[in-house]
Amino acid sequence: MNMATFKQTQPLLEGGVDLPLFHQRLPPQKEKVLIVLGATGTGKSRLSIDLATHFPAEIINSDKMQVHKGLDITTNKITPEESQGIPHHLFSVIDPNVDFTATNFCNLASTSLQSITSREQLPIIVGGSNSFVEALVDDKNKKFRSKYECCFLWVDVSIPILHSFLSDRVDRMLERGLINEVRAMFNPNNDPDLYSRGIFKAISVPELDHYFRMEPFLDKKGRARVLEKAVKDIKINTCKLAYQQLEKIHKLKNVKKWKLHRLDATDVFKKRGKDADEAWENHVMEPSIRTVGRFLYN
Ligand code: ATP
Repeated sequence: MNMATFKQTQPLLEGGVDLPLFHQRLPPQKEKVLIVLGATGTGKSRLSIDLATHFPAEIINSDKMQVHKGLDITTNKITPEESQGIPHHLFSVIDPNVDFTATNFCNLASTSLQSITSREQLPIIVGGSNSFVEALVDDKNKKFRSKYECCFLWVDVSIPILHSFLSDRVDRMLERGLINEVRAMFNPNNDPDLYSRGIFKAISVPELDHYFRMEPFLDKKGRARVLEKAVKDIKINTCKLAYQQLEKIHKLKNVKKWKLHRLDATDVFKKRGKDADEAWENHVMEPSIRTVGRFLYN
């Protein structure tokens, strides 16, 4: 007998205890999805890769800049070595000057979700574009929630500690060649409207525009001064982005009532070398593995 259509007609206990009858079909089993949230720089990517080496999983990017081709340093994409062979979806797939909307994200992410779950892998959605994740999860007709069961991890780092890390990260990006990467996309005839489209919105592209325009007309000292101002703006705007992302996560938690499992990674950023790795294990990895294990297997 198919349990799903079993219809109870007799009292279950002697004495006619009035028990509820269940004769509806069982709801279809929901697929599981892990969603990793966190401001830029908190270690979301590292966590998702660590988890994907621990559970059978594939990663879907939800960063609206990293979805575009190009500017790998500027948008802080993970390197092939860092990805450790874990399949990544929606990375570097959209042309640089094409705007990528929340609707585009929902459509492509849904296709990736279906293909990942059909391979019986856990999809891990990770990235900083919380408005995209919100549009996907809280769609108007509640289709996503009816199909998928979500587990949310939130990697959190205290803002002053994160700001100092982000400022250093910009310096490291400069060392890795951020300026030449952005310069390759610069054209003095660029329409100012371009900076409101596609990857041209990425932090660093508008900030460096003035420097590239002025560069040919300035002496060494003048160039250094204008570049210094651009770098300062890049750092300020990166910190502002982190703050806005955090505000949005608080809204998802407190207003939208998303059940977020918060992982405090602050200690990781206060330490160096082996101590930092140990803090990562204790404060981020272990609690995440426990949470995801319960989510998947309980
Ligand atoms: P909203 O769309 O409502 O602004 P959001 O959370 O989707 O919210 P974010 O993804 O945080 O928006 O991006 C906001 C802006 O931050 C982008 O338009 C871009 O300027 C900048 N930004 C976001 N991610 C990156 C990135 N990886 N590299 C560089 N700049 C980025």
